[in-house]
Amino acid sequence: MSALPVVVIGAGPQGLAAAAHLLERGLEPLVLEAGAGPAAAVAQWGHVRLFSAWPELVDPAAQRLLEASGWVAPLSGYPTGAQWIKGYLAPLAAALGERVWYDARVTGVSRKGRDRLVDAGRGEQPFTVHLTDGAGTEVRLEARAVIDASGTWDSPNPAGADGLPALGERANADLISYGVPNSQEPQRYAGRHTVVLGAGDSSLNAIIELDRIAQTHPGTRITWALRRGGPVEANNTFGGGAADQLPQRGALGIRARKAVEEGRIQVVTGFRTGELDRIPNPTNSDVLSDTDSDASSDQLVVVAEDGRRLDPADTVVVLTGFRPDLSVLSELRLDLDPTLQAPRAIAAEIDPNLHSCGSVAATGARDLAHPGEPDLYLVGMKSYGRAPTFLAMTGYEQVRSVVAMLAGDVTASERVELVLPDTGVCGGSGLYDDPTNTAGGGGCCGAPAPAGTRAEPELLSIGLGAAPISERPAGGC
Ligand SMILES: Cc1cc2nc3c(=O)[nH]c(=O)nc-3n(C[C@H](O)[C@H](O)[C@H](O)COP(=O)(O)OP(=O)(O)OC[C@H]3O[C@@H](n4cnc5c(N)ncnc54)[C@H](O)[C@@H]3O)c2cc1C
Repeated sequence: MSALPVVVIGAGPQGLAAAAHLLERGLEPLVLEAGAGPAAAVAQWGHVRLFSAWPELVDPAAQRLLEASGWVAPLSGYPTGAQWIKGYLAPLAAALGERVWYDARVTGVSRKGRDRLVDAGRGEQPFTVHLTDGAGTEVRLEARAVIDASGTWDSPNPAGADGLPALGERANADLISYGVPNSQEPQRYAGRHTVVLGAGDSSLNAIIELDRIAQTHPGTRITWALRRGGPVEANNTFGGGAADQLPQRGALGIRARKAVEEGRIQVVTGFRTGELDRIPNPTNSDVLSDTDSDASSDQLVVVAEDGRRLDPADTVVVLTGFRPDLSVLSELRLDLDPTLQAPRAIAAEIDPNLHSCGSVAATGARDLAHPGEPDLYLVGMKSYGRAPTFLAMTGYEQVRSVVAMLAGDVTASERVELVLPDTGVCGGSGLYDDPTNTAGGGGCCGAPAPAGTRAEPELLSIGLGAAPISERPAGGC
């Protein structure tokens, strides 16, 4: 079995980093990527500027691999997604060469000759990985271990507040977008009404991009509907602001707040979307004459579960978060938290319902393991399930630890030292969804401390002798 490769699903930032760590440890990686090039998911939000600076976006093993051929790591600045690819992820994929297969969509993972039911000899069997290539050909490979770094980008949460597609959401897909609008491509939004659904960093980005369009295209209207209740000034909508240890992440909230305070965004809170109702657009001919002749002639009315109706929208932008696609792993014995759909041992640490001070703990191989399925790991964005707090540097620490474990270096795997930034606010989406919660604090940490008085970031050490996250007291922030 040791002659088999470690299959990595996804050539995003985390899958490519995992491959670099595997190579460094003398293990052979095979990265299977569904897209036509590296970081196909990041490419879809290439216009968005990251809130993390360059040094937080480069994996140390990947850096060592790249520097061997003369690459110089960017030392400062905040790249866009496209710049992250051009300056780092594409060169990294090129350095991995034929170890990365493109147009290779993984459709299933199992154990050789064993479906989910069969116990006998399960752990000794290699994994089987099924994929479909660009020509539609089905292929079955064997792997000694599988690292699933396929992210969550392809499975956005729907508009419905109950987690299911709102009535009419599937049928009216032509009037709905699940990505952050790009102010450099204003056609779809200029002079029109857009409704943004959802909170979080992506929705803040959307508000800022749409606001840019509104400032140069008269008649552009933006409505922002949030499930969380209470006034936006008090319900954590704008994040940590100046108190955020990632200044660019804080700046997102500050810019969005300004657009709201200056009256360019209409905000509706406590709004639980139930239905998207299609109606004809009465002003269609005027609008189309100076914008996009391909646009639909219809509009959508977003209807809340309590019957409230927003003004008709030309586009509804749904940014309600993401969820992992677990269908390809359905023949494996996963140990997942039933709420977050994240590996059970890390869920308590990242669950926004329990506590979220913005900071989350570093997680290593022990926390990411599935006891019933040795040598299988979910890493990166996918390892956080539905929790929105994932950072690239958390993932790089995950893949370092996971690969050390696969290489048999338990000591290195369990030694984790990572300082993670704080958003400067407490309380996550689960708490703020309570329409009666209008307080600024909440969660395990109480109200945000005034700037300058907050505790320093925690140095987390999950070393030998330290209790696994699952055994530490909940709400450790
Ligand atoms: C708009 C946005 C801004 C962000 N900004 C920051 C930031 O500033 N700082 C930060 O630390 N984090 C940020 N993040 C969070 C996170 O770091 C990124 O989402 C990052 O891209 C996650 O990396 P990943 O490798 O886990 O997943 P992804 O980047 O999603 O990569 C997964 C890859 O797997 C491929 N794939 C999916 N399914 C399959 C399959 N079945 N078979 C084969 N391949 C498959 C996809 O095509 C993709 O290339 C941001 C996220 C978003 C969405």
